[in-house]
Amino acid sequence: MENKLTIYNTLDRKKELFEPLNPPFVGLYVCGPTVYGDAHLGHARPAITFDLLFRYLKYLGYKVRYIRNITDVGHLVNDADEGEDKIGKKAKLEQLEPMEIVQLYTNRYHKNMEDLNTLPPSIEPHASGHIIEQQELIKKIIDNGFAYESNGNIYFDVEHYNRKFHYGKLSGRKIEELFSNTRQLDGQGEKRNPLDFALWKKASPEHIMRWPSPWGTGFPGWHLECSCMSQKYLGETFDIHGGGLDLQFPHHECEIAQSAAAYGHDAVRYWMHNNMVTINGQKMGKSLGNFITLDQLFSGENDVLEQAYSPMTVRFFILQAHYRSPLDFSNEALKAAQKGYERLMSAVNQLNKLKPSIENTVDVDSLINECFEALNDDLNTPILISHLFDGVRIINSISAGHEKINTENLDKLKKLYQDIVFDILGLKSEEDSGASNQALDKVIEAMMNVRKVARQNKDWATSDQIRDELKNAGILIKDTKDGYEWSLE
Ligand SMILES: [Zn+2]
Repeated sequence: MENKLTIYNTLDRKKELFEPLNPPFVGLYVCGPTVYGDAHLGHARPAITFDLLFRYLKYLGYKVRYIRNITDVGHLVNDADEGEDKIGKKAKLEQLEPMEIVQLYTNRYHKNMEDLNTLPPSIEPHASGHIIEQQELIKKIIDNGFAYESNGNIYFDVEHYNRKFHYGKLSGRKIEELFSNTRQLDGQGEKRNPLDFALWKKASPEHIMRWPSPWGTGFPGWHLECSCMSQKYLGETFDIHGGGLDLQFPHHECEIAQSAAAYGHDAVRYWMHNNMVTINGQKMGKSLGNFITLDQLFSGENDVLEQAYSPMTVRFFILQAHYRSPLDFSNEALKAAQKGYERLMSAVNQLNKLKPSIENTVDVDSLINECFEALNDDLNTPILISHLFDGVRIINSISAGHEKINTENLDKLKKLYQDIVFDILGLKSEEDSGASNQALDKVIEAMMNVRKVARQNKDWATSDQIRDELKNAGILIKDTKDGYEWSLE
């Protein structure tokens, strides 16, 4: 397929044709969660945005290596290299090992991601599993003269770096303004300049997560893991780096600086950022205390929620907005998404029941072109979904007999909905399990009626055979006062 995918590159602030470095291979790195609490709506957005990109790149025929990390060390409570480690703090609070916290919330994150039907990444590296690689990277940066040691800490020398490279190229921030706006925080006396950031931090006695290093016992700085793991698995230069807009500065700016300081050039060719989820116009976040976890959304258990919203409703809600636009949470918006999702799914069911005619009065090719044009236009899902609803009107007209479709076009239309709705947008039917249980219920009822008649006729052989065969199929029957109950083994 001819590649016409354009993506908005934050680095150049414009849409660019996506051309991978080594086709058909594509390297994609996305910043994953810091696993010290349950995932919330703000985590669902990057996961779904880059799942869409991953799915579409694969659909286009690329062989994609998708890396999404787990931050399990080094992310401090305060972004200015101070304060406790987020995971260490939670571990003390819960009286658990830090790695128990990491495992617990990684498992829960995976469950949420599976519910949202996001595909697992190709590799999910942990920061704590790459301490040696991070130390090697620090050594390179020191050897190249862009970092210095201070009291057992290693800091990145931003001012020195900026003489040769451009600190601020991604976020557009001006280093002079940053210098004048940064106030000297406690403990930053160790830094030559307040903008300098930690590559390695000395562990204080109460700090639980610590490793030996050439500079004493300590732990890596938060920004380092992503530079290190992205280049380890995708190469010195790779195609796409994604993440939330809130990570653009300082996290991604520092990643760029680290890679350039170590290798002399940029690592990333296309930077992509999804916008934030807001609640009543305010950023949703753990630190702000106004977040709604995904489990709460799925169960309805949060005072802000008027009802529970299914994972596919949440997925559709996120896809209805362009990934670079802000997305505001409200019950109204989610209820509208639920209606939209259900309408789309029932149209797909209807489509599969349509019968072709000899005549044809509908234009399927234009619809297909419009859908892929929208996708190729920087993953414009709101426009794509509006085209899918144009198609729903066509499906309804055919179904009502106002329009006619021939076999060739019907096959194309079915393929379009299959490809876009399920394979690319990653939606799925949520009725499946319910519907199959209902069908099972009817089959069991029919067999139990036969068994009842057999018993009345004292035909014990047939009665026993029915019970045994249900048991072989993994269905347990319990006789009760009013009849029977069944359960799956
Ligand atoms: Zn990162």
